[in-house]
Amino acid sequence: MSESNILSTLFSSNPYFSAGIGVLGFGAGLAALRQGLVRGSYLLRRKLLVSLEIPSKDKSYQWFLYWMSKQLNNNSRNNTHQYAVQTSFIQHDNGSISTTFSLIPGPGKHYFKWRGVWLQVERQRDAKLLDITSGSPWETVTLITLSKDKYIFTELLQESKKLAIEQQEGKTVIYTSWGSEWRQFGLPRKRRLLNSVILDKGIKERILQDVKEFINNGKWYNERGIPYRRGYLLYGPPGSGKSSFIQALAGELEYNICILNLSERGLTDDRLNHLLSNAPERSIMLLEDIDAAFTQKRQLTDQQGYHSMVTFSGLLNALDGVASSEERIIFMTTNHVELLDKALIRPGRVDFKELLGDASDYQIKTMFLRFYEGEDKLAEEFVQKVKGKKVSMAQLQGHFVFHKNYPKNSVLYADFVTK
Ligand code: ADP
Repeated sequence: MSESNILSTLFSSNPYFSAGIGVLGFGAGLAALRQGLVRGSYLLRRKLLVSLEIPSKDKSYQWFLYWMSKQLNNNSRNNTHQYAVQTSFIQHDNGSISTTFSLIPGPGKHYFKWRGVWLQVERQRDAKLLDITSGSPWETVTLITLSKDKYIFTELLQESKKLAIEQQEGKTVIYTSWGSEWRQFGLPRKRRLLNSVILDKGIKERILQDVKEFINNGKWYNERGIPYRRGYLLYGPPGSGKSSFIQALAGELEYNICILNLSERGLTDDRLNHLLSNAPERSIMLLEDIDAAFTQKRQLTDQQGYHSMVTFSGLLNALDGVASSEERIIFMTTNHVELLDKALIRPGRVDFKELLGDASDYQIKTMFLRFYEGEDKLAEEFVQKVKGKKVSMAQLQGHFVFHKNYPKNSVLYADFVTK
C-alpha cells in the first residue's frame, strides 16, 4: 500500500477527520463562491460601466466643478449631502469688495441625472499627495456611468467648457500667482471701457498703437530671432490711472491680466522664471509698484521676516529669459521712477515709458464733462479754479462723486479737491 493510500484509509476510517474535512471543504467552497461573486461583479462592472477620471491638474477640472455646482444649485432633486463652498471675491474699482459663494460637491460620492443619464461622481482628495506646483492637495473627480451612455462624457465636458467660456465672455479674467502656477482671482470682471480712463492728450492712443503693432508683428520678431516681448513702464503719482488704464487696455484688446506680486512669500527666482514663461494665453503681465519690491522698504520688511526670496538679478533673468517665441506683454507701474535701478528699465526690458501725471487742464475738463454733461461753462470755471494745483484724477473723481448731482457746488467747493 502506498503512503498516500495509507493516509486516505486512515482519514476515512476516522470520523473526526472526515467531519473536519467536511467543514473545511464547505468553508473553502464559500470562499470560492464569494471570490467568484466579487470577480463576477468586477467583470460585470467592467463590461457595463465606464469611468472618466479628471485630475485637479487638468484644465477641465475647474470647468467641471463649476458646471457641477450649477447642476447642484439648479436641481432640487439631487441627492448630494456633502457640499464644499467656493468663495469668489471681487474688489471693484471703487475699492468695495463683493463676495459670492457657490456650492460645489464636496469629497465623496454623488449621484445625479443629466440629460436622462445617471451619473456617479466621486471626488477624492489625496491628503498624502501634494500638487508640488501649487502646494494644494491632489484631487481627482471620477465620473461613472453605463457603457451605453459613455457619449455623455464628451457632451458633459463640452458643456462645462462652454459654460466656463460664457462666464468669461466680454470680461477680463484676473490671474494671480499661486506657488508657481497661475490661478484665476475672483470672478471675471466686466471689461473696463477705454474711454472711462482719461489720460492726457494722445497718451492712450500712443500706447494702444504700440501694443497693437507689437501684437500684429509676431512674424517679424520670429524671423529675426528676437524675443517676442515688449515691456512698458507707467510711472507717476498715485491715483493717476495707471492700474485703471492697464485694465481698460486689457479689455480693449480682449486680453486677461496676470498680476505678479514680487513680494509674495515663498516666491523664488525659479518660480518667478516658471511663472513668466508659463502665463495663460492672451494675457498682460502686470508688475505693480515695482519700486517697492527692491528698495529700502523691502529691506525693512525683510528684517521682519516677511521677505520673498526673489533677487533682483533673478527678476532680470526672468524678464530676459522668457522663451523667445512666446508673446509676452509686460506692464510695470511705479510711483517712484527715480528709485528704479537703471538695469531694470533699459531697452529690451522696458521698451516704452510713459508718465501718467497729475491731472492736466485737458483731463480736468474732460472728467468734469463726463460727470456733468453739457456744462461746458462750469467746466471752464472749474479748470480755472483747480489749475496749477497738484490734483490727481482719483481726487477729482472723489470730488465729483461727492457732488454728483450738483455741478455748481462742485465748482463752488473746488478748493476742497486737494484737501
Ligand atoms: P494708480 O494705479 O495710478 O494709483 P488707479 O488706476 O488705481 O491709479 O486709480 C484709482 C481710482 O481713480 C480709480 O477708481 C480710477 O477710476 C480713478 N482714476 C484714476 N485716474 C484716472 C483717470 N486718468 N481717468 C479716470 N479715472 C481715473
